[in-house]
Amino acid sequence: MGRDSVIDRRQNGRVRILVVEDDRSIAESLIEGLTAEGYNVKHAATAAAALAATDFDMVLLDLGLPDMDGRDVFRQLRSHSSAPIIMLTARAEEFDRVLGLELGADDYVTKPFSFRELVARIRAVSRRTLESGSDATPSAADTSTTGVQSIMGLSIDRRTRRVHVDDEAVQLTAKEFDLLAYLALDVGGVRTRTEILENVWDAHWYGPTKTVDAHVASLRKKLGRHDWIEAVRGVGFRLEPRE
Ligand code: CA
Repeated sequence: MGRDSVIDRRQNGRVRILVVEDDRSIAESLIEGLTAEGYNVKHAATAAAALAATDFDMVLLDLGLPDMDGRDVFRQLRSHSSAPIIMLTARAEEFDRVLGLELGADDYVTKPFSFRELVARIRAVSRRTLESGSDATPSAADTSTTGVQSIMGLSIDRRTRRVHVDDEAVQLTAKEFDLLAYLALDVGGVRTRTEILENVWDAHWYGPTKTVDAHVASLRKKLGRHDWIEAVRGVGFRLEPRE
């Protein structure tokens, strides 16, 4: 795929993003969010579907796929496409980050990530690759690259993993931070205990769902705002900071 044709499409239409993600709830929120941002989104839930896909300008690639090692998917995508690839992974180890960049990923996002942060990365990769040589000027929205999410008095910085409530720093454990960051991916939306366990703990968690409740309790206590994380009876939890 030639860079020139990509620039033409960018000017004439929308950038086409191939979202390779097997987790249905993450995929759905990415498709909805990226479509709202003006992207043309295609979805592949398996490695096989991703490798069969055509006509895309950029790839968001989840490394944890059911049918093939994500790194092999990456190598194969790279071998037949020049589209930039942003890796999405639940694995936060330095090893994976370094490996991802060594493989030649254009960027790397660790779950849970904020949607705004992801869009900022997509724009940055677009600027570096798809639009290189064009005279496109960044839009005002492109300044939101800090990765800090602010909701009422709550601010979450995923890059530095710092949390503030009304400008006061809150010390959270790693899991408490991950839980908060995950709930903040969809402010006001309900996450089930199972979704929380799968995304914050491990994709194959078989332990008691009471673990979630215990972490929610300690998180509420540390935030000092019990009502920000609401329990939805029989379902799960939602984050909704208010005055
Ligand atoms: Ca996955």
